[in-house]
This record gives sequence, structure tokens and C-alpha cells, in this order.
Amino acid sequence: MAGADGEFGGSFLLRAPSATLTPEGFSEQEQLIAQTAERFAQEEILPAAEAIEEPDYARLRSLLRAAGELGLTGVDVPEAYGGLGMDFAASAIVADHLAVLGSFSVAFGAHTGIGTLPLALFGNAEQKQKYLPRLASATWVGAYALSEAGSGSDALAMRTEARLSEDGSAYLLSGEKMWISNAGIADLFTVFARTGETISAFLVEATTPGVETGPEEHKMGLHGSSTRALRLQEVRVPRANVLGGEGEGAHIAFRILNVGRFKLGAACIGGARNCLRDAITYARQRHAFGRPIAEFGLIRQQIGAMALHLYAAESAVYRVAHLLDDGHGLDEYAIECAIVKVHASEMLDRVVDAAVQIHGGNGFVRGNPAERAFRDARVNRIFEGTNEINRLLISGTMLRRAQQGRLQLTAAVEQTMAELLDTPAATSAAEQARRALLLAAGVAFRRHGAALEEEQTVLAALADLAIAAFVLQAVEARQADSPFAAAIAAEAMDAVDVRARRALCALSEGDELRTQLAWLRRLLRREPANLDRMQLEIGAKQTEAGRYAT
Ligand SMILES: Cc1cc2nc3c(=O)[nH]c(=O)nc-3n(C[C@H](O)[C@H](O)[C@H](O)COP(=O)(O)OP(=O)(O)OC[C@H]3O[C@@H](n4cnc5c(N)ncnc54)[C@H](O)[C@@H]3O)c2cc1C
Repeated sequence: MAGADGEFGGSFLLRAPSATLTPEGFSEQEQLIAQTAERFAQEEILPAAEAIEEPDYARLRSLLRAAGELGLTGVDVPEAYGGLGMDFAASAIVADHLAVLGSFSVAFGAHTGIGTLPLALFGNAEQKQKYLPRLASATWVGAYALSEAGSGSDALAMRTEARLSEDGSAYLLSGEKMWISNAGIADLFTVFARTGETISAFLVEATTPGVETGPEEHKMGLHGSSTRALRLQEVRVPRANVLGGEGEGAHIAFRILNVGRFKLGAACIGGARNCLRDAITYARQRHAFGRPIAEFGLIRQQIGAMALHLYAAESAVYRVAHLLDDGHGLDEYAIECAIVKVHASEMLDRVVDAAVQIHGGNGFVRGNPAERAFRDARVNRIFEGTNEINRLLISGTMLRRAQQGRLQLTAAVEQTMAELLDTPAATSAAEQARRALLLAAGVAFRRHGAALEEEQTVLAALADLAIAAFVLQAVEARQADSPFAAAIAAEAMDAVDVRARRALCALSEGDELRTQLAWLRRLLRREPANLDRMQLEIGAKQTEAGRYAT
């Protein structure tokens, strides 16, 4: 079913969007939320950064509570249960503007996202009444326990079991969960366990006899965020604490991960904005060869590139917020949520890497904010589904929906092929990327048929082209004629060209391949662009502003 703008999950593969949400278009209320979150980040989180990293969990908890007093932990929770009952846009704005310290963001995200949303979205009135007000105010901290030592990506292979008690009034949970964010500070866990042939989700209070957490993991980054195993030994959980009905666990786990991925994307753009500002500040005050390093072309170019990566991801995150707010449910935009997760996490890694480089030797020293951000960012490509799993999910969902007739992909491929022969090349980069994807998808279907779902390298190529098309659409919908859009298009289209060519080379050979490559060249025909100059100009604009400036 299509939303107000005629959009539905995957409709970006068929046509460009007619509307989006942009930071420039925030309502007064959205601006106020951004300012509140930003002020909290600057005045409360950053000054406590070193204490949090020690780690000091009492401080972390009190900061979560302070965020709760401002309503920031209850944005997604309905007003009836003590929250603000706001939309996904507001939720993204908060996750984005609070993101100045990875450890806090992960604790906040695990609490407000995967820790609270299963209950907020799938709980019954009684369960919500009992727990949601405490979670909304962060008087209680939430956590989400799905992964196990032997089952991360393959989460449904879990071994934790829930057995019905003899009198049928409770379940007895036994097993061990692994890498649980907030485990050391959580009061309420959403635990997924096997109930016979199905998976169920349980609300488990941390003080229930038989619940224990393991020692803290010694992680590469996120030193202030608690990550522990959760051990369950014959833990008696009342039947009333089964979430969403028995056997509904897998449904809940995957729906929630969609929002988790979207919110992770939002936190990544906030992290990148913060890193960019620090890098600019450093570049303006650090002198070399008698000048601030910010005046050197190679530093400016890196700053420009950082701002461009951020702008692209920011456009995509708020575009997905716009889609999620059309009320079609969490499953509808699974492809788009996975796109944002992959794109924003990879964007952040590029930005933190440039930030370390701009800080020179200081950027390599333990405790420097750029060094910390570099370490903290890495896990974003691993949790909420690794980026490999998310790439497979993007293409796999596209193909499945096409087979189900939910997405008219075959017709779109045929239209692209027909247009190739008799219409001039599209000028919009987003449209070119979309058609390159359809061309590659058409060739892949023809070559592999139903077996395509086993061809991971082809699926990853299709996912990369889908990511490029979606992000470029988001950038063009934000402001098609901006210098940002032109520079992002110039860089992205080089990547699209390489990715599509490589995919075709893997799918065809001989004259057939040569013909397909000729189609691709025709499809991607563009005016040459001076990307170096664009990056330098955008870098100069950022340096003068002293922060990210669009
Ligand atoms: C700091 C941190 C916090 C976390 N917080 C939580 C939490 O709060 N709650 C929770 O439940 N979990 C949490 N996790 C667990 C996290 O979700 C898993 O680590 C993640 O899903 C990957 O699972 P895995 O580690 O078992 O890796 P594996 O699944 O073993 O993957 C190893 C490698 O194989 C690849 N791979 C796996 N399957 C495939 C496939 N089918 N095709 C191609 N490649 C594949 C992966 O992409 C990866 O590169 C956290 C992890 C960390 C590090």
C-alpha cells in the first residue's frame, strides 16, 4: 500500500521521490528538539566524557536519567506512558544531536531503541503500564538480549530455551546471551529464547533469581558502554511477561532491528558532525610551515570530503525518517533502514579516519577525541546486523518482493532496457544510478534466475548500486542544484561506474559483455566534473564557518 506521497518500501527503485525531510526544513518544534539534544550533549555529555570512559557506570546512569528529565529518553514512548509520543523524525534528531561520545550514544541507543521499543511497540497495556514509564524516564535502563556466542548473524540459531513451568503460570529460561549492551546497568532485559519450534520474547527483570551478568568485555572502543554476557539459569518469568504473544519473538526481533538500524544511522551522522567540527578547530589552530594547517589544500580537501560524506548520509537518514513516519509499519522500509545503516556506518569510518589524519601524531595518542572516535566507530559496521548481512538483506528483500509482486522490478528493468535504445541518457545522477542498478539486476536475473540468492558477490554489488541510487535521490530531493549535490554526484557516479562494470564483468563475457558495457557507458554519460575543486571549495566553507556548514 502506498503512503501519502505514493511511496512504499523499495519504491525508490521505480522512481525518484517527490518529498523528503531535510535539516533545512525542520519545523520549529524539530529545531527545538535538536537544540535541546545538542545543548545536553555539549554541556552534560562532553564534560563527563573522561569519567564515562573510565568507565563510571554511576555517572552514565545519572546522565541517562538527566536526559530522561528533559524527555530525551522518552521521545518514542507514547504520552500515556510518560513519554513524548513523537515521530521517527524526532527520534532521529535526538539520536543525531546527542552523538558526541560513542559510549553514551550506544548506551542511549540500546536503552531507548532496542531496549525500550520492543515493549513500546509490541507490549500489551498491562506490560506497558508496568514498565514503560520507568524506561521513558530512564529511572530504569533497558537492554536487548538476542545474540549468543554461537549465534550472532544467525540469531535464530539461538540455544537459550524457555520451558513452561508445570503449573503453566511461568516460563523457565536457561541459556547465555553474549555482547549485551547495557548489561551491567540494565534493570529490564528483552530476552529472546526458543519455545519449542518457535522463538518468543520475554521481559526479564534484572533482579529475578537466576539472572547474572558476566564480566565486562574488554573492547577496542566504547570503553564507557557496558557489554557483558547475560546468564540465565532456570529464571522464572511469569507468562504475563511474554511480549507480543508466544512464538512472536522472531517477528519482534527483526522489526526492532529495522528501527535500530535507522537510529544507528542517525547516531553516525551526529558522530561525524562532531568529529568534523573537532577536526576543523584543530586545523585552524595547529600551525606548520608558518601557517595554520587549515590553509593547506590537502587539509581543506579532506575537510571538504568529510562534509560531503556527512551531507549525503544526513540526507539519507532524514529521508528514511520521512518514509517511516508515513505509518506503514516497521517492515515496509526494511530495505531503506538497512541502506542507511550500511551507508552511515561506512561514512563515519571515513570521517573518523580523516579526523585522525588531520590531528597528525596527536590523533594517534590514546585519549585524543579523534583517536577515541576512530576506535568507537568501528563496531557500527558489526552490530545491528553486520554490513555484509545488511547488504544481503537489501538485495534479498528486493528480489523477494519482486517475486511476490510487491515490487514491479521486472517491468522497471524492461523499461530501462527499452529506454537505453531510444532515449537520451538521464542527467540526474540518482536516475543514472537507479538505471545502472536495474541494468545490472536485469543481467543478474537472466544469468542466475532463482539461484541469484546464492550469489553473494553479485547481491553485494546490487546492494551497493541500490545504496548509491537511494542516497543520491535523497541528496537531490534535499536540494538538487546545490554545490553539495554536484560534488556528491561526481564522486558517487565514479563509484557507480566501477561497481556496475565489475558486476557486469562477473555476469557476462565476450560480445555479450561488451554490448552490456556499451549500454552502461551510454547510461552513465555525464559532463566531466572537477571534484578536487569542489571539495576544496566546500572545505574552505567549513573552515571559515568553524563547523559543518551546508
Ligand atoms: C559492542 C557490541 C555490542 C553489542 N550489543 C548487542 C546487544 O545489545 N544485543 C545483542 O543481541 N547483540 C549485541 N551485539 C552482538 C552483535 O549484534 C553481533 O556481534 C553481530 O550480529 C555479529 O554476530 P557475530 O559476532 O556472531 O558474527 P558472525 O555472525 O559470526 O559473523 C562473522 C563474520 O561472518 C560474516 N557472515 C556471517 N554470516 C554470513 C552470511 N550468511 N553471509 C556472508 N557473511 C556472513 C559476518 O558479516 C562477519 O563478517 C553486540 C556486539 C558488540 C561487538
